Amino acid sequence: MIPKVDLHIHTTFSDGRCTMREVVKIAEERGMECIAFTDHAFNMDNFGVSEDTIDEYIHEANLVKKESSIKVLIGLEAEIPTIDKVMRYRDRLDLILISNHGPVRTTFYSAIVSIIKNHTIDVIAHPWYINDADWDKLIDVALEWDVAVELNSFRKVPEAPIVEHIARRGLKFSVGSDAHFKSEIGKVGWAYEMLDNLGLGPESLIRLP
Ligand SMILES: [Zn+2]
Ligand SMILES: [Zn+2]
Repeated sequence: MIPKVDLHIHTTFSDGRCTMREVVKIAEERGMECIAFTDHAFNMDNFGVSEDTIDEYIHEANLVKKESSIKVLIGLEAEIPTIDKVMRYRDRLDLILISNHGPVRTTFYSAIVSIIKNHTIDVIAHPWYINDADWDKLIDVALEWDVAVELNSFRKVPEAPIVEHIARRGLKFSVGSDAHFKSEIGKVGWAYEMLDNLGLGPESLIRLP
């Protein structure tokens, strides 16, 4: 059995509606074995975790982590242009996702490759911004640097043929609901169905710190 995880959840520290405590309580009730707080951080629009709130974010997450009966990871969802700011806190974070929320540009492939090579990131989140033609080259780099690709249940990406291809190449997957609301926490059925349909087991999941 693949452990039930949800490694992409937003809290009131960015645009999520639940506090960290509420998130963990709901995740416990829904039978999750491990969750990650992954709030937006150092965003260009200046919302989410910032220089002013990062210490409080990590402190609060550590408190909740200690009280929790399930495994709790402290993460951030970083953006391509501001990855450097997030990396300053790498040693205090369990999980760093890299994402893009803007329009798709052909330059994203090279931006992501450069970030993987120059920073210790863990997961490429909801990768709808990678052109099909670039996937193979990206997989090479992700394999070399041990970076996982997220199965994002909210956006239902990547699409099945890409997931199958990634799996065949031996890349690890992360699983995330991208929850912003209470009802979405632990809602990762799409991802687990995908893994199940491809006959993938626990070894296909990202190694949890
Ligand atoms: Zn995102
Ligand atoms: Zn997100």
